[in-house]
Amino acid sequence: MRLSRYFLPTLREPPREAEIVSHRLMLRAGMMRQEAAGIYAFLPLGLRVLRKIEQIVREEQNRSGAIELLMPTIQSAELWRESGRYDAYGKEMLRIQDRHEREMLYGPTNEEMITEIFRASVRSYKDLPLNLYHIQWKFRDEVRPRFGLMRGREFLMKDAYSFDVDEAGARHSYNKMFVAYLRTFKRLGLTSIPMRADTGPIGGDLSHEFIVLADTGESQVFCHKDYLGMAVPDEKVNFDDIAGLQKTVDQWTSLYAATEDMHEPDKYAAVPADAQVSARGIEVGHIFYFGTKYSLPMKAVVATADGKEVPVHMGSYGIGPSRLAAAIIEASHDEAGIVWPEPVAPFKVALLNLKQGDAATDGACDQLYAELTAKGVDVLYNDIDERAGAKFANADLIGLPWQVMVGPRGLAEGKVEIKNRKTGEKEQMSPAAAVDLLG
Ligand code: ATP
Ligand code: MG
Ligand code: MG
Ligand code: MG
Repeated sequence: MRLSRYFLPTLREPPREAEIVSHRLMLRAGMMRQEAAGIYAFLPLGLRVLRKIEQIVREEQNRSGAIELLMPTIQSAELWRESGRYDAYGKEMLRIQDRHEREMLYGPTNEEMITEIFRASVRSYKDLPLNLYHIQWKFRDEVRPRFGLMRGREFLMKDAYSFDVDEAGARHSYNKMFVAYLRTFKRLGLTSIPMRADTGPIGGDLSHEFIVLADTGESQVFCHKDYLGMAVPDEKVNFDDIAGLQKTVDQWTSLYAATEDMHEPDKYAAVPADAQVSARGIEVGHIFYFGTKYSLPMKAVVATADGKEVPVHMGSYGIGPSRLAAAIIEASHDEAGIVWPEPVAPFKVALLNLKQGDAATDGACDQLYAELTAKGVDVLYNDIDERAGAKFANADLIGLPWQVMVGPRGLAEGKVEIKNRKTGEKEQMSPAAAVDLLG
């Protein structure tokens, strides 16, 4: 992409309304723009990041055996009356009336709708297990939308829903999501820690919040430091191996980890002092087994092997891709700007023409751009007529993993300069070597 033909409205001045670094940097880097409190337009650069996050989330859901569908954002109040949540949900739900004065709502989550879809067509244990997910916008009328995408009112969520004939099956489904989440966050360049979360009136121990440690996190968390280096299963993990998955989950739940709500000071005190981590955290995912909470009132039943009808056992599993975009920046930035982990970077390479209008420099840049693009590398080519200093600052701000700097002085010796945004290391090499390195 040539910057001269792109839409990248960066800001020079730090925006005043932004309280945390990710919010500040996303506005400055021209990734998004607030249209109303907690409601954002994704500008092209921000959309590229969101799509990459979404795709990694999708790949790991698919790998675990979950199946993608797409439910609407607008729902009918009827379904929520069946589950009893229409009145209980309160002010976070955005309620809408259509022209026939029918009560509708903008979905804050989809348990009711998926249960309706399930009960309409699944009748037998033979069709189970089943896990259906979608990646769709949600609306929650948060009391205090703030910190940009971190706590929006309209936000993107991946929500999956599992269906099993009994609790043992549901536990396996839960473990699949648990492991898929570990893998997802790892691939996004994040260290996430599953922390025991409140299961409410259902009880049991099957709810975990996945927390990324960051000073700007909204919750206080406590955990054992060994979680920070614990191994995450690789892509060969077998999701059908019930015992194998259980072993991974057992390991990842063996040490102390709890958010403030679930914190037990006496148990935490048993963690060796030098292994205690007390920090702020961001909730990036949440998984939950809730048994027959919706299937019972909504009559989603299946026939068991011995012909009995039982309400199906369900779980739900959320990830916030838009919140993740902010969380990744909280975890990966420096004074100069964003430092994108390569898997979610909006482009891989920033190509900087340091002397726009100089025939040799323009020619070398055009050729590098063509060759890298031909190799499938996403390049943002800064071909704008501005001074080199401004291009360096802009490249650091938007944080693409690699910068290729091309100017007449280097070219006289047949060299361009490559900079690694993360380490800051610079190296001179021929344009051909640069194409090899980055292609
Ligand atoms: P929080 O405690 O931050 O309000 P939640 O517990 O209400 O989140 P869940 O219902 O568990 O959220 O939703 C699943 C995921 O959706 C969360 O883990 C988070 O990643 C994301 N999410 C929830 N609320 C928001 C929001 N207001 N803005 C952005 N992402 C959100
Ligand atoms: Mg909430
Ligand atoms: Mg929460
Ligand atoms: Mg939650």
